[in-house]
Amino acid sequence: MNGIHGGAVLTRLHFEQAMGIESVPPVAPPPPASGGTEEPRRPVSGRGDAAPSAAPAPAGVDLFTPAITPGAGEPDKAARWKALEAEVQSCKKCRLHAGRTNAVFGCGNKQARLLFVGEGPGFDEDQQGVPFVGRAGQLLNKIIAAMGLKREEVYICNVVKCRPPENRTPADDEVLACSRYLYEQIELVAPSVIVTLGAPATKTLLQTRQGIMSMRGKWHNFRGIPLMPTYHPAFVLRQYTQEVRSAVWEDMKQVMEKLKQS
Ligand code: SF4
Repeated sequence: MNGIHGGAVLTRLHFEQAMGIESVPPVAPPPPASGGTEEPRRPVSGRGDAAPSAAPAPAGVDLFTPAITPGAGEPDKAARWKALEAEVQSCKKCRLHAGRTNAVFGCGNKQARLLFVGEGPGFDEDQQGVPFVGRAGQLLNKIIAAMGLKREEVYICNVVKCRPPENRTPADDEVLACSRYLYEQIELVAPSVIVTLGAPATKTLLQTRQGIMSMRGKWHNFRGIPLMPTYHPAFVLRQYTQEVRSAVWEDMKQVMEKLKQS
């Protein structure tokens, strides 16, 4: 990127137009309660059904050891990226490999200051091998544009790289098997800010069982990197209310402010 374009820093109106918000309450209210603190799940453009939720790794499991042994210094980064992607493309560490058309590694600027982490590929992503290309991806593109950025300026990836069947939430063991790839991607990009999209990504990186509704809108920390959880674009499409869209807007405002400061 790098950085929000100076004079093109998003205006509230710009974002509202992108998100389809006609008017925004002065204080973002909590999203509609559904009896719990989780995003309700059902298929939208790939991401889907309620099923086992991603959960913290069992005690004693090391999630932070790079999948590929790091080389020394910057010149090794290109080699590490290449090796990491090659490993993902041929990975069979969990059952999800059996149903994939393509492993979906990630895309964008490998030196991005802003990194988005979603849950896993849906149908369109599996077909194309690129994250966030379905309806939810189109909304994410709008959000990124409204932030004054281009999609190619940020880095986008998912917790699991292969599409779960029926777009269910990745199971704990699948998250555990795959998350080392995500951790190494984060280490290689070394972003200034991470945005987790939805509960599974938030739970995976923050090792928490708290729901997204209580986590979003507040800064958290992943290995020294400020992390802002927000709703998954697929959830926004399902709950296309002013309250939910405004919540995302409030979260992204904080992200833009953090990027300006960093
Ligand atoms: S989801 Fe991850 S761990 Fe499972 S097969 Fe795909 S790349 Fe490997």
